[in-house]
Amino acid sequence: MLQVKNLSFAYSTNQVLKGLSFEVNRGKTLAVIGESGSGKSTLLKLIYGEFDIKKGEVWWDNKQILGPAFNLVVGYDFMKFVAQEFDLMPYTSVEDNIGKFLSRFYPEEKEKRTNELLKVVELESFAKKKVKNLSGGQKQRVALARALAKEPEILLLDEPFSHIDNFKKQSLRRSIYEYLKINQISCVVATHDKNDVLGFADEMIVLHKKEVVIKDSPERIYNDPKLPLVASFFGEFSVIEGQIYYAHQLKIVQRSEHKAVVKQSYFNGNTWLVQAIYNSEYIFLEHEFEIQPKSEFYFKVMK
Ligand code: ADP
Ligand code: MG
Repeated sequence: MLQVKNLSFAYSTNQVLKGLSFEVNRGKTLAVIGESGSGKSTLLKLIYGEFDIKKGEVWWDNKQILGPAFNLVVGYDFMKFVAQEFDLMPYTSVEDNIGKFLSRFYPEEKEKRTNELLKVVELESFAKKKVKNLSGGQKQRVALARALAKEPEILLLDEPFSHIDNFKKQSLRRSIYEYLKINQISCVVATHDKNDVLGFADEMIVLHKKEVVIKDSPERIYNDPKLPLVASFFGEFSVIEGQIYYAHQLKIVQRSEHKAVVKQSYFNGNTWLVQAIYNSEYIFLEHEFEIQPKSEFYFKVMK
């Protein structure tokens, strides 16, 4: 189990995190969300042991994570980190990058394991390619496979699918999280993409103003986002009489006490996203059809 206890951190005088406490059980995934600059990457680096912790503690089972003042080499065998800037060996093949830390004394094992991981990240046909000739997304997949190679007990992922195009993203995501579940690997994933969270994370924390402001299951946070910041993570929303509503929770009706004027409609796939003005504020709602600017309509809220 990962335990973060009352953790605070500052880069010299710039306080970034204040009094964070949370736990992640074996095999569970925790998503960390927050605006850019809210300290997500810093938190992962602290858990990894990249910095010395002056206030608070981080534990994995009964081992305390210590920083460079105590460890000659940063990091621990049981923990792997895929950072936002992944450092691979550019002039070496994909398979050699993945197998880098696997023992060469068991060549058959090594090959089997490398092939298994190539499959997880869907790079089988790139095995012999040099990493320098890969796209950003493909490099990210090599970094993920390499982190899994030595079967860590806990994996730290910093925006792990950010470079991967949408064609591949969903299947890769399923493949990685399935692998983590089957192998009971704990995971802390920092992300600004709701698709990394919904359907995959067991718990989620929201970093805001240096603190954990919300900690709950993704489902409960989605259903009761509490802050506009949190709602915005999941999609377009409106604040009406102090309540937060997602775009699909506002419905156009024949008549109601809420009258609004369309500003613009945006094609959104299954529906149109309608931006409108209500009580001199913007609201967003989903509608089956496009509505022309300046049209008036009535809507009701449903929760
Ligand atoms: P996030 O990953 O949520 O975008 P970061 O953890 O990268 O946030 O950054 C949090 C804050 O710490 C930001 O204000 C950033 O400018 C600052 N920061 C990040 N890394 C360093 C560093 N190595 N030295 C000094 N300040 C840093
Ligand atoms: Mg970051």
